[in-house]
Amino acid sequence: MVLPKTEEEIALMRENGILVSKALAEVGKRIAPGVTTNELNKVAETFIRDNGAIPSFLGYDGFPAALCMSVNDVVVHGFPSDKPLEEGDIVSVDCGTFYKGYNGDSAYTFAVGEIDAQTRKLLEVTKQSLYEGIKQAVAGARVGDISHAVQTYAESFGFGVVRELEGHGIGKKMHENPGVPNYGRRGQGPRLIDGMTICIEPMITAGRRDVYLARNGWAVHTCDHKKAAHFELTVVVRKGQAQQLSTFDFIENQ
Ligand code: MG
Ligand code: MG
Repeated sequence: MVLPKTEEEIALMRENGILVSKALAEVGKRIAPGVTTNELNKVAETFIRDNGAIPSFLGYDGFPAALCMSVNDVVVHGFPSDKPLEEGDIVSVDCGTFYKGYNGDSAYTFAVGEIDAQTRKLLEVTKQSLYEGIKQAVAGARVGDISHAVQTYAESFGFGVVRELEGHGIGKKMHENPGVPNYGRRGQGPRLIDGMTICIEPMITAGRRDVYLARNGWAVHTCDHKKAAHFELTVVVRKGQAQQLSTFDFIENQ
């Protein structure tokens, strides 16, 4: 049973959504060849704490950092490291905040310097697949409508849709019901209710969709070691049209 949030709760979640979106933008403007993901992790952690919030990923099931930093063939849940980013890399930055009793969660995949045309397409299509999913996040629809929209869009470009991980409800806890898979059938799954808050987060691969878990128990890699992209927004289900609680505007319009 998934309960919709009250308007008061949604307002607090929007505050989290803005904060997490701004934290990603702070990271984004520093991304360049030679910068390490540990340095970027510090930028985000400082920004989050300076705003009176807690970086919710730090310590979550033992996760060691404020950000998941997933470079190239790492799909999600990479650890920040001291290895400098290189020209042509892509890095998925996933950020979570806990503020006033609620959670924010968003992710963006950045290009490091110039990237090749196929990788640029992967980023464009992954982000657009997220927006295609959001279009379906309306009251009365089903979770499967979101899943189907993400999957069919991404696959129409020949990209792979990772099945092992999915989006999720969000609120007082970072991960709530329902699960929001990135593949599925129209008309299936839990019904979406006005006021439900969910994270939609396509994880899309340039090659095959198969993934494996690294020996550290966290980082998810593509089996063929081709690149993967990941974009995530928090939205509230509404009648007619979903509203975004987080946004990429701070990243893209700065
Ligand atoms: Mg996330
Ligand atoms: Mg998430």
